[in-house]
Amino acid sequence: MTYKLSSLLKARFPLIYIPTFEEDRVTKYIKSIATDEKLVKYPREVFTWTQTSGIYNQNTGKAVNDTTCPEKMLEYIRKYDKDAVFILYDFHVNFGVKNRTPDYNLIRKIRDIIPDLKLGYVRKSIFFVSPELIIPETLQKEITIFDFPLPTLDEIRNKLDSMIEQNKAVQANLTDEEKEKLCKAALGLTLQEAESAFALAMVNDGKINIKDLSIVMEEKVQVIKKTGILDFVKSEYSINDIGGLDNLKNWLLKRNNSWSEQAKKYCIPAPKGVLVTGVPGCGKSLTAKAMSTIWQLPLIKLDLGKVFSGLVGSSEENMRRALATAEAVAPSILWIDEIEKGLSGLGSNGDSGVSSRIFGQFLTWMQEKESPVFVIATANNINTLPPELLRKGRFDEIFFVDLPTMSERKEIFKLHLEKRLKDKDVASEIVGVKNVCTELAKMTEGFIGSEIEQVVVSALCDAFFENRPLKFEDLARNIASTVPLSATQREQILALRAWANVRAVSATKDSSRQEYTKEIDAENVSSSRGGRTLDF
Ligand code: ATP
Repeated sequence: MTYKLSSLLKARFPLIYIPTFEEDRVTKYIKSIATDEKLVKYPREVFTWTQTSGIYNQNTGKAVNDTTCPEKMLEYIRKYDKDAVFILYDFHVNFGVKNRTPDYNLIRKIRDIIPDLKLGYVRKSIFFVSPELIIPETLQKEITIFDFPLPTLDEIRNKLDSMIEQNKAVQANLTDEEKEKLCKAALGLTLQEAESAFALAMVNDGKINIKDLSIVMEEKVQVIKKTGILDFVKSEYSINDIGGLDNLKNWLLKRNNSWSEQAKKYCIPAPKGVLVTGVPGCGKSLTAKAMSTIWQLPLIKLDLGKVFSGLVGSSEENMRRALATAEAVAPSILWIDEIEKGLSGLGSNGDSGVSSRIFGQFLTWMQEKESPVFVIATANNINTLPPELLRKGRFDEIFFVDLPTMSERKEIFKLHLEKRLKDKDVASEIVGVKNVCTELAKMTEGFIGSEIEQVVVSALCDAFFENRPLKFEDLARNIASTVPLSATQREQILALRAWANVRAVSATKDSSRQEYTKEIDAENVSSSRGGRTLDF
């Protein structure tokens, strides 16, 4: 990062845009580079500007009179005859925000001074520092975007240390390991937000200790929710809650700890992500949630639909911020549910290419990301997925989740019955009875996982209504009255299978796939059910 900004200055990039909320932190950072002879060869003076206070010289601590007006400020920059950088806060409002049209005079004035910034005899650059990324069309070729990452673990630790140092009255009872945990929990927050979270923890009881972890985590959940497009998913599911899908489960188990020091010894590349497609209601979301428990990593759900809709802020900025937040809390899992819905606008002319740009931004990030953010994308309708997304190298693997096989249905029944039959009176006529789950599995060919769960829940409701134990007949009756999705959406499922046959790996283990008896697709794809096999 240091190298990059100093290079931009040395190469005399005229306009640099830094989208961030962290004015203080970014200003200190720019100053540390622009004034360092070793980094930039010719040190620059540093000026900041706001529309309320005008230009302020950060080196001398003096304000420049009569420069609040943007035209006068730009004129001052044009005439300034020493090497300098000018950091303009919130100038984006002049580039056109909601209910305010772009100020074309100002934009023109900026264009007029670009040749001087590039070629003039003194070295000058302008930085735009704003929480929103808005760039007018006419300046797009001249502005360079510089991504300023959220604070690192070291920066957060320094902040906590300095707070403890300054607040002598606060009792700090933290081992090094506990401090590390507390600081890690604050990753993804701006420095200001981390400071507020620690301050909140301190004022509560005059102490700071590991019990304050929940306060910091809660602050982070709030911040992530406030983005409007990301959400923290607290998972209560483990691998034992997934019936079947053994290939997928094994794949995930094998990649646990891929980011550890131990894994580095084996030169294993960090996993990028998986795309899990298939029949609805068969455990795709369940797998994403269980994964966060298996890998013990935070699960952040990205609502791609909201990113593209532009309902919350500008679409490009939303995407940039979402990816930056996922990286800041890394190692983490970024879950993109129903990815096809978010990408459905691609190729249409209605959004002047915004969708294509964001999609491109996402693909580049997928390809180049170095931080340990694992992406799990789930999709029901593969027809609308752009081919670029499916190309080798984007995802490590594409899994297809089919209708559960006989033995998978047996497992799913067992899981859902065991989960609910905790009371021995309610369970008396089912638990311990031989072959119950096998019989139920035989009766439910073509049922999806969520339908099996619903059969169990409805049967329990019947038993509860009559205040008696659950009976096999309750389950059988509910099975008989269910019209499975596989019957109503037969064509779609066949199309999914045909697609998966050549492009995806089966989530179900091979030995289980042999079990299919009456194939609903016997006519044409019986041999292809579930796609390629996975070679473990
Ligand atoms: P959709 O695409 O419609 O969201 P999905 O494939 O993501 O479907 P899930 O949300 O994971 O489906 O499944 C819905 C519910 O059905 C789960 O919460 C779980 O209770 C049950 N279920 C589905 N598949 C399985 C399974 N393989 N094992 C155990 N339970 C399952």
